[in-house]
Formats: sequence, structure tokens, C-alpha cells
Amino acid sequence: MLIERIWAANAYRNFHYLIACPETGEALAVDPLKWELCNEAARRRGWQITQILNTHEHGDHTGGNAGLVGATHAKVLAHAGAASRIGGVDRGLARGDVIRVGRTVELECLDTPGHTMTHVCLLGHAEQPALFCGDTLFNAGAGNCHNGGDPGLLYETFASQLAQLPDNTRVFPGHEYLARNLEFTLDREPQNADAQVLLARARDDAPTNAVVTTLAEEKRVNAFFRLQNPLVIARLREPFPDIGEHPDARTVFLKLRELRNRW
Ligand SMILES: [Zn+2]
Ligand SMILES: [Zn+2]
Repeated sequence: MLIERIWAANAYRNFHYLIACPETGEALAVDPLKWELCNEAARRRGWQITQILNTHEHGDHTGGNAGLVGATHAKVLAHAGAASRIGGVDRGLARGDVIRVGRTVELECLDTPGHTMTHVCLLGHAEQPALFCGDTLFNAGAGNCHNGGDPGLLYETFASQLAQLPDNTRVFPGHEYLARNLEFTLDREPQNADAQVLLARARDDAPTNAVVTTLAEEKRVNAFFRLQNPLVIARLREPFPDIGEHPDARTVFLKLRELRNRW
């Protein structure tokens, strides 16, 4: 499985991805808003884009479909429940579906509601697995729920699906928000040394060189995976004293999401 990350250089800070088969050169484009950049990257690598995957229905993820289909005749894949809102979807996806790219790449579809109700993540099975997680999980952060989402479902997705994946899984989100998210982690947990080190690095790196985290790292630096950390809880009780001394993980997640919304 070959992966190329493409930085959109736009205000939304989108990342696009090409996932290609090393044997056939067939490629799948994930959320190719700046579709010309994706097409150009594929051309440089000698790849043919045969499929487009939208993680969800928001315009900054689907807005390049028509242009890229026009240029490549690629098939469009998205959550079956989002197909009517996106339009032009050739294959509606459900949990457990397998997407093949060329001869060697197999991507498993995860049904991951929360940011919207019809959001998929792709899990690339490889020696080091790769998770393409759209706006569900960000490096050191979590998606918001302002535009058709539900924070309770986002918590369920984190706890019952994402946190269960192998620790060495690489995290490939739909936006570059690493430094900002780490600042939130450190606002919640100022003594988190891993977050301090990673933040210094994130501030130095250009977005084209942004670090690719693993789930093991996320569990150390992402507040939304640190729900039973005593320091996180102690500090959360300052704005939310009614959560008590031993709030459950879901309560902590929801309060962190609420704080992050206005942070
Ligand atoms: Zn979105
Ligand atoms: Zn987005």
C-alpha cells in the first residue's frame, strides 16, 4: 500500500490522500477537494486514479468530485446514507465493506458516526495499518459536531472502534490541526511532556512535512483518548464541578468536546 498525502494549502487546512497499489499503479483518492493537486500527484507517480472516497458529505471533502471524475472517470464511493446528499455516488458503503485498489490494497470500511451521522473511516490492513479518518479523529484532537453530528455518538466511535485498533496504526486525518490541538491538550494537562515535545516539533514543521502520528502516540497526547487521566479529570472539575470525583469516560469526553467548542 503506497500512501501520498497532499496538502491543500487552503484556509480549511485540508489533507487529501492517494492510496495506490504498487503492482498496478491504480489509486484511490480520499476527499480530493483540490482535485487538480491530486491528479498532478498521481501523474507524477505514474498512478491512475480509479476511485474517489468521500469520508463524509461536507463540501470541503466532496467539492472536488466532479472535477476529478471529469478528468479520470473514477468511481465515487461514500457512506450509503450520505449518497443522496453528495450526489453522483457510484457505490454506497456500509460497515465491513472491503474496498480493493489494484491487486494488493484492501481497505476496510468503518462506520464512524459523530462528526456527521454518515461518516466512514478506512482502515488499510498492512504490517503497519493506516487509518483514514476524515473529520472523526484529528492528530491530537477530535472532530466537532456542529454540522449534523452528535457528541455522544462521537464518543461511542472513539471508545468502541478507534481506541480498539492496533497501537501502531498510522493516523491520516482530513485536516491539519496538530499544533492547535496540542495547545488544547496542554491547556487541559499542562504537564504532558509528550504533548510539549510534539508541539515544539509541530510548530517547526511546514504542513507538507507534518508528523504522522500513531494511535499509541494519540493515546499519549490526545485529550479525547485520556478520559480517565486523574489530572485531566481534576482540571475538568474546575469548570464542571457537578461531574464529581469519578466521572465516567463518556462524561469526560462530552465535557472536553464542550470546552473545545468554545476554546
Ligand atoms: Zn466535516
Ligand atoms: Zn472537513
